[in-house]
Amino acid sequence: MKDRKLLMIPGPIEFTPEVLRAMGMPTTSHVAPNFIEVFGQALERLRQVFLCPSGQPFVIAGSGTLAMDIAAANLIEPGDKALVVNTGYFSNRFADILERYGATVTQVHAPAVGDVPALEEVEAVLKEGGPSTGSGHGYKLMTITHVDTSTAVGVDVRGLAALGREHDVLVVVDGVCSVAGEEMRQEEWGIDLALTASQKAIGVPPGLALVVAGPRATDAFRNRKTPVPNFYADWTRWLPIMEGYEARQPRYFGTPPVNLIWALNVSLGQILDEGMETRFARHRRLSEAFKAAVTALGMKQVPVSPDKTATTLTAPYYPDGVDRAVLAHIKKSGVILAGGLHPAIKARYFRIGHMGVVSASDILATVGAIEKGLAQVGYKFKAGTGLAAAQAVLTT
Ligand code: PMP
Repeated sequence: MKDRKLLMIPGPIEFTPEVLRAMGMPTTSHVAPNFIEVFGQALERLRQVFLCPSGQPFVIAGSGTLAMDIAAANLIEPGDKALVVNTGYFSNRFADILERYGATVTQVHAPAVGDVPALEEVEAVLKEGGPSTGSGHGYKLMTITHVDTSTAVGVDVRGLAALGREHDVLVVVDGVCSVAGEEMRQEEWGIDLALTASQKAIGVPPGLALVVAGPRATDAFRNRKTPVPNFYADWTRWLPIMEGYEARQPRYFGTPPVNLIWALNVSLGQILDEGMETRFARHRRLSEAFKAAVTALGMKQVPVSPDKTATTLTAPYYPDGVDRAVLAHIKKSGVILAGGLHPAIKARYFRIGHMGVVSASDILATVGAIEKGLAQVGYKFKAGTGLAAAQAVLTT
């Protein structure tokens, strides 16, 4: 019997055999001609996946938190005002990072766990902040967590980014749980910097911080009055590296993670072969099928309504009488899920990632394992209810 388990957590995700093969290849020199070509191609493809033709991509060894650190280190100077649209755990982290670089941070919080801050409230705070140009008293930057991985809450990035632009604020999007899965159109939506990490919908093992900076972000960096107070994150070091590799001329600052970048190029190629529109639609459909199953099994979700819900993951509350012990049963049936993360509700819910290379069969296998686990812990429901609800969506 196959011993392999299906990894359905919100990152790291399942990876394609081609990506994994690239990880296992003999490592080349970072200045080998074939690696230079691969790195150059990966940078070009990132622009296409982020839908940001005029952006400057950065591929740097590190996790998603480094990508957040890079954004803050290069765009914030001590005393700058920053606005955090706070939807949970990872928005808190962004506020901490911004403060570390000397920003004065204002946060607009969601009214409750599972909800999002109202556009009107964000607009009112931006207005209060005044213009960022001229007197220089307004907000320099706002951060938006596209999908809060702790709650499966998805925000209206397009609407928020439009507000940011209107008030001349740099719009920074933490897309760690969204890019290449959730619909995000960086340039069209006016996002000045978007960031992610390799291990989620990008489909590459953990280890790469990925950032695409639009022209307003790189201008803000060039107009800094103070040096970037972080040696490793400084774009002064990395810009020539990225420009060099894209021009197929290797340059050295820190040794690039050769195999990860090789794997990244393979995965980006697969993503673009599928096509961004098809990919967004697939994520929507699989998410709808999975969420239909969760509802049919009598479970409520953390996001307060479907329009505030991500398509890359689902966060159901355990039904009455069930707790995280069910996850061990589900794992025995071959599917690994994640527990709760948001401190306020941690013990009451669990999380299922369905992004990247995920298929309809993975969704059905996961629902089947959840049904089996629920039955084993004594939850009463009609066997097959969740599977039928998922199939009803998948077969239309
Ligand atoms: N932001 C979001 C929305 C995330 O989901 C995560 C990771 N789960 C991070 C930031 C941090 O990324 P990493 O764990 O790769 O540092």
